[in-house]
Amino acid sequence: MRRSQLRPVGMIAVAVTLCMAQATARAETVVLEHFTLIDGKGSVPQRDRSLVMVDGRITQVGPASRIRAPRGAKRENLRGAFVMPGLIDAHVHLGLVDGIDQNFTKYYDGDNIEQQLKLYAAYGVTSVYTLGTDGDDIHRVIADQRRIGRIDSARAFTSGRGVVFKGSYGGVPGLEQSVATPAEAQAMVQREVAKGDDFVKLWVDDEFGDLADRMPNSISKPTIDTAHQLGKKAVAHIFYHDNATALVGQDVDGFMHQVRDRAVDPALLTSMKAKDVWQIASTLSREASFTYKLLPFVDEPFFSRGVAPATIAALKSPERQQRLATGKHFAKYPAALRNASANFGTMAKAGVTYGMGTDSGPTARFPGYFAHWELELMVKAGVTPLQALTAATGTNARFLDARDIGTVEKGKWADLLVLNRDPTADIRNTRAIRTVYVAGRKLPTIWQTCVGRPADACGEAPK
Ligand SMILES: [Zn+2]
Repeated sequence: MRRSQLRPVGMIAVAVTLCMAQATARAETVVLEHFTLIDGKGSVPQRDRSLVMVDGRITQVGPASRIRAPRGAKRENLRGAFVMPGLIDAHVHLGLVDGIDQNFTKYYDGDNIEQQLKLYAAYGVTSVYTLGTDGDDIHRVIADQRRIGRIDSARAFTSGRGVVFKGSYGGVPGLEQSVATPAEAQAMVQREVAKGDDFVKLWVDDEFGDLADRMPNSISKPTIDTAHQLGKKAVAHIFYHDNATALVGQDVDGFMHQVRDRAVDPALLTSMKAKDVWQIASTLSREASFTYKLLPFVDEPFFSRGVAPATIAALKSPERQQRLATGKHFAKYPAALRNASANFGTMAKAGVTYGMGTDSGPTARFPGYFAHWELELMVKAGVTPLQALTAATGTNARFLDARDIGTVEKGKWADLLVLNRDPTADIRNTRAIRTVYVAGRKLPTIWQTCVGRPADACGEAPK
């Protein structure tokens, strides 16, 4: 706010002086200096940069020698550190679980959502796109976030309740979201968008053939068309190549999983590029997680700081491991992961636009940690660390035309991840989190977090 806006011209001098003093006190100006910048647009890292943030917005960024620190600004020397935009996870579900117990009816509320958004932020994930399993509480949370702006958690963008074909795959128990006819699909999209959804989600799958039907074209087409008529993008859960092909033909805007039944055809790649269909989430961490009886990282501090000891114990229980190993589809997951990884690599090489998304939030798929695992799996599948980071920041923001986030540029929110080591040299360095900023405010990082225990029970952060 400019000072002149605070009071009409002509106030008595003392009031103007007082008011100017208040305005000065209110403007919080911070300068971060001498870091290496990873801008979120894919530029090679730029050394010795500085930036100025005023009231949570970036007002200057550039070579350190050219940035003028405003008088009275707080300055922080970040020589040796790396500054990048906060990560955006383009596929999450909020408020579904307590520990690893998943139950929408029992656990979904504003408090649980906000707690999970804080955990995402602690991991440097400063925005999330939530994918079709939200009750109406999400709209209140998001309205508050957008009114306040300078929030103390990750920002959320929602697809509300996604569209499920009655009796087929998708959604969560306890949330009414299935449709049987094209008219019901249209009405549902209209109703959901009227509540404030940022985009529209639909599911096309049959759980390895367990379910009789996948959503037919006669439902997916009007779902996508109605979203477009209302100015929203439509994104799909897919598993099968033939559904991906059909949905591209229906002008879907993005896929929220990879094709997992086979290798992608050149024809699909060509049509995705021609119609600008984005592979916005490949959820490799989701597919990988299903291949384990016991997640291989449960004792890593970067993971275990974010979950209660009771949750670790539940993950380690022999009964659970036995149950997973004897699950009906357990043997199918390695192939699904291989296909997903190979197809992601193929798409990236072919020039399909891709983002980053994990499908974290449902049981045993952990907020925040999975974003770092996803980046690692993307690099293993064939992109460079810089490409993976660009997907997870600038590209994801562009998908929803979220203009205030995703890159480190003048005018954007200062949603920043400060790292002690170079993530473009080794993608696992995204875990070397030094500071997380949301709108210029330092939030507790995962290295300052110790869920379910006294604050000092998790020990010192590694250097
Ligand atoms: Zn999902």
